[in-house]
Amino acid sequence: MRYFLAIIGGGPAGYTAAEKASKAGKDVVLFEQNALGGTCLNVGCIPTKSLLYGAKQYFNATHAQKYGVAAENVTFDFAAMQKRKTIVVRKLVAGIKQRLNNEHCTVVNGNATVLSSLPCGEGQGGVFVSCNGQLYEAQYIMICTGSTNFVPPIPGIKDNPAVWDSTDALAAAELPKSIIIVGGGVIGMEFATLYHELGVPVTVIEAMPTILPNLDPEVVQILLDKYRKAGINILTSTKVESIDGNIVSISSSTSSTSLTSDKILVSVGRRANLQGLEALNELELERGAIKIDEFCKTNLPNVYACGDVTGKIMLAHVASRQAEVAVGRMLKEIPLQRIAYNAIPSVVYTNPEIASVGITEAQAESMSIPVEVKKLPMTFSGRFMAENEGETGLCKMIVDAKNHSVLGVHCIGNPCSEFISAASFAVRNGYTVPEFRQVVFPHPTVSEILHEIL
Ligand code: NAD
Repeated sequence: MRYFLAIIGGGPAGYTAAEKASKAGKDVVLFEQNALGGTCLNVGCIPTKSLLYGAKQYFNATHAQKYGVAAENVTFDFAAMQKRKTIVVRKLVAGIKQRLNNEHCTVVNGNATVLSSLPCGEGQGGVFVSCNGQLYEAQYIMICTGSTNFVPPIPGIKDNPAVWDSTDALAAAELPKSIIIVGGGVIGMEFATLYHELGVPVTVIEAMPTILPNLDPEVVQILLDKYRKAGINILTSTKVESIDGNIVSISSSTSSTSLTSDKILVSVGRRANLQGLEALNELELERGAIKIDEFCKTNLPNVYACGDVTGKIMLAHVASRQAEVAVGRMLKEIPLQRIAYNAIPSVVYTNPEIASVGITEAQAESMSIPVEVKKLPMTFSGRFMAENEGETGLCKMIVDAKNHSVLGVHCIGNPCSEFISAASFAVRNGYTVPEFRQVVFPHPTVSEILHEIL
């Protein structure tokens, strides 16, 4: 049988593409070697958020005095948290399986290898894929093979039982007694939050002068100050020289020393997973990831790529949006959809959360865009005051100084992850400040900060 679309990888990119193409009446085959849902669902977004929520419940219970609540002898059961996490993941994976079944999409559980692409005219080409000893032919192929944790070339990392990556950390039956986290990026700071809230001594080692280096520095500084005050040891501008068992040798411009911890979590980025694509030797890469155009087409006819493997922005919601656009292009939808890369929201699930969309002040400067920067402490929101005792938080808005359109919003304060999409809407649609001002936000909600700041 010749399929319309063969998809390699069943993460957010793969399953979204499969569902959309199948819904349009096309024959689709999707290959997945592990569980459907990919990194996000199985070893990323969902399991971390499940554990983080448990940790937050415990942390809030032990810090409830400030709200006039006395909770004594509060304990937690890490095994029960892990069990709940596994159930949440299992249910969501089953949901995806069900959705693909409902659309009559063929799902093949196995490791797929692309054999060749037959470069013909648009709509006539073909691709052969081998999986579990069977040959599959499709008109289009979509590569959604995701990414894997990057292992930096630090002596002593490989085959060291004390060293974890994020997948090991999520699978661990017991909490570490203490942890050193190498890399103060998104993964590093989310795990720092989890362990700190559960009482584990945490040290973060970050090579750059600040943690979360891609985010707004003023927003990040608030988190940094809060976490340091709370006792998380955060060492910036610090390099890991080597690891020996559970001893980590570090150096900065002024000193060298070593630290010891029960476990060492390495979270210094992820790399595109290009395994199984060797036959596509003409496939163009860019910085180790598959190069794509605005419709997620690669340089090879009928070969598309979506998600982390494209190295664009490694976020699940980017992957699924790319998949929608790519399938729309294959189906020749009119009008063709595009991805507004300038309006992709992102969230770091620290406590407080950080959420942002669009450009930062520094990016505006590097692009020579004159901007006006509006700032407001989160305490301008009544709901924030009611629910965030002792916290300040910040909302920053980057506005084009010439046409007054909203170019970016950067917030720290709970629960900004839940309203950053309103800011994304404004950035995506090029709302000016007067236009955005006409949007009514419900009172009392923390989202009103987006109105107050205008
Ligand atoms: P990252 O790029 O966010 O952060 C890696 C950090 O490690 C950077 O701050 C970098 O400066 C630092 N670093 C690099 N080499 C180092 C070294 N040798 N010593 C010390 N520090 C070093 O990568 P990540 O945190 O591993 O996350 C991987 C991807 O997964 C990212 O694209 C991220 O956006 C995504 N992710 C997203 C979420 C979310 O949306 N909430 C959650 C987890 C992961």
